[in-house]
Amino acid sequence: MHHSNLAVGLTSESRRDTTSNVRTVSDDGPTATDASIPLTKVMLGEDEERLVIQVLRSGQIAQGPMVKRLESLFAERCGVAHAIAVNSGTTALLAALKAHGIGPGDEVITSPLTFVATLNAILDCGATPRFADIDDVDFTIDPRSVRRLVNDRTRAILPVHLYGHPADMITLSLIAADAGLVVIEDAAQAIGARVGNQSVGSFGTGCFSLYATKNITTGEGGVVTTNDEGLADRIRLLRNQGMRVRYEYERLGYNWRLTDLQAAVGIPQLERLELVNAARAHNAAFLTRSLAGIRGLVTPRVVEGRTHAFHQYTVRVTRDAPIKRDELGAALMRVGIGSAVYYPRLVHDYECVRRRLARSPDPTPIAARAASEVISLPVHPALRAEDLDRIASAVRAAFRS
Ligand SMILES: *Cc1c(COP(=O)(O)O)cnc(C)c1O
Repeated sequence: MHHSNLAVGLTSESRRDTTSNVRTVSDDGPTATDASIPLTKVMLGEDEERLVIQVLRSGQIAQGPMVKRLESLFAERCGVAHAIAVNSGTTALLAALKAHGIGPGDEVITSPLTFVATLNAILDCGATPRFADIDDVDFTIDPRSVRRLVNDRTRAILPVHLYGHPADMITLSLIAADAGLVVIEDAAQAIGARVGNQSVGSFGTGCFSLYATKNITTGEGGVVTTNDEGLADRIRLLRNQGMRVRYEYERLGYNWRLTDLQAAVGIPQLERLELVNAARAHNAAFLTRSLAGIRGLVTPRVVEGRTHAFHQYTVRVTRDAPIKRDELGAALMRVGIGSAVYYPRLVHDYECVRRRLARSPDPTPIAARAASEVISLPVHPALRAEDLDRIASAVRAAFRS
């Protein structure tokens, strides 16, 4: 495999375009001050306000024409035939699993280094999770480890495009085709990420989140993407109490609907998607240049041929570093720079999960080591050049002390 550090150039002109008319609101709560650099910022502006007001005045605030507009834009952005909006990324995962008929007795192979929603969706539909180890470079499931777990009960492979880096979808798709498996992508963190020219969410059934901290947000929300018309139809039915026509129930269902008010917040951001992700990539490239050559610090690498959405800029503090990972987080906090560990423990390493699993998880040493070494630094598009300088200097200072 060939890896390269990402270097995307963006002119200051286009960077300014990204943030013009956009106010930033800290999502990190009341502790954030002017001098502090939060880990994430929500960027919403006049375009969102205008569209929200349009919905308010229309009198139709639940699921309606604005959700439809968001869906067509989303489908176009991902290069798929169908996008179905739902009320969260967790719902998107559950909807995909259920619409594929996955349930008790079925095994789903996924990553142990993920947000708990991935696991909760698998457990909620009654299936059995199996955990593959991850690749040391890109933090996504290693196809060789996936292959070892495939057996007669396997129904699906569920890769997580962690931090916004796409998993090895070419190899995973081949394994799935060979064994007759469904591919469900947890693309919650990866809108806009690509393998070659192909968007994540278009290799299998794509599950996206529009939660407040994601690259595109409606506060809460999610989207399922697919090229399979039958699957799209089943998800739309599940989303709306099993009804196509009012009070004609074709199957049991749920209320999984997104609202037009939420869709109005998402549409202008989707229109800006390329600029927003380019600004993230620019910030990531700057940090990677500024943090080169520090012993015990590994900056994120991007596998050749893949486009990272840089939802998170995640470094590793390795064992030969002069400080511990958590000491870096504390040092950054002292100078007002936000950071976070995604994720401090493997997703099955909790008592409530262990109780639910029939067998102990297969060992995943690479994922376990990653959980002890990773820490994410701010990379959001609202960062200014001086913020990026401050982040890099603070990291360097922490490694010197
Ligand atoms: C955010 C996230 C989800 C869940 O999305 P919600 O919209 O919060 O339900 C699922 N998987 C991953 C990897 C996520 O980061």
